[in-house]
Amino acid sequence: MRAVTFQDVGKLTMEDVPKPSISEPTDALLRVTTTAICGSDLHVLHGRIPGMLPGSVLGHEFIGVIEEAGPEVRRVREGDRTLASFMIPCGKCWFCSQGLFNRCADTRVFGYGAFLGDLNGGQAEYVRIPNADMCLHPLDGALSDEQALFAGDIFTTGFDCAVEGQIKDGDTVVVQGCGPVGLFAIQAAKTFRPSAVYAVDTVDQRLEMAQSFGATPIDGKRVHVATAVQEATGGRGADVVLECVGALPAFSQALDTVRAGGRISVIGVYAEPEYELPMSLVFTKGIDIKFCGTANVVGRWEEVLRLIREGAVDPTAIISHRMKLDDALRGYQLFEAREALKVVLTP
Ligand SMILES: [Zn+2]
Ligand SMILES: [Zn+2]
Repeated sequence: MRAVTFQDVGKLTMEDVPKPSISEPTDALLRVTTTAICGSDLHVLHGRIPGMLPGSVLGHEFIGVIEEAGPEVRRVREGDRTLASFMIPCGKCWFCSQGLFNRCADTRVFGYGAFLGDLNGGQAEYVRIPNADMCLHPLDGALSDEQALFAGDIFTTGFDCAVEGQIKDGDTVVVQGCGPVGLFAIQAAKTFRPSAVYAVDTVDQRLEMAQSFGATPIDGKRVHVATAVQEATGGRGADVVLECVGALPAFSQALDTVRAGGRISVIGVYAEPEYELPMSLVFTKGIDIKFCGTANVVGRWEEVLRLIREGAVDPTAIISHRMKLDDALRGYQLFEAREALKVVLTP
């Protein structure tokens, strides 16, 4: 079967690899019908994810039809069309029992290297799904593949950030970063009925997309963001800041932009070992800072699929390129060069 494989840092290839088969009674074998390239696939490509072995298949956003289900798989059956979650929680530990699936220490991730389960991913014609009851969601005919696909990762990630922001009716929300997750955070934030959503980025095309989702764009290249938000709120600042960038200057900007007593919800990925927190500013403002870490996709995808079904949000709007799986490497190039906002692939 055809698959996108990791060869070395900076090098992916399209390969013919053996078709996988189920090996545990809780496994399923999925025939992939739609998959996508995620921003975190670039972390794998760039060697920021340790333990990715040469020949491993990438990809953790995918939908497919179950070709075979192990004898202990209960929630889905052969022939079911299902959405995969990028994360595979164990389903047995204390955190999983509390629904805190994103805090499960035994979580595995498709196509993400030896330290996260050494599993092949879904940028392929077939993929083996371990613990299928935990990480597959059956889909009915109401949603197309493209509509449902992002609920398994980036949409639910943006939604998680908005939920943790505890947005209230009438709030002013600032979303920092208008990549795919930020754009979904905007869509999710709108469902909590804020009075205004401001979207911060430096790329014109992303700001235009944010505007099309109902946000007021703020170009971080041209204006001082905290000042612009203060001016828009009678000097008060944002009630809620959703930080979707994951870079220290963005975190500092969030501290300056949030109002006294407001809340920052962080979904951007931080890997820096330390940061000098301006203690007197944080103390004086009395702000809440919530780090979401990895989003609780399995705990929250039901809500996201409902919003899509009800037409409250349209995830397909962010798809900029539709390509065949065999053209995946060109899709990676376009995505890396930021010429593509989101690339969807079909085998
Ligand atoms: Zn991802
Ligand atoms: Zn667990």
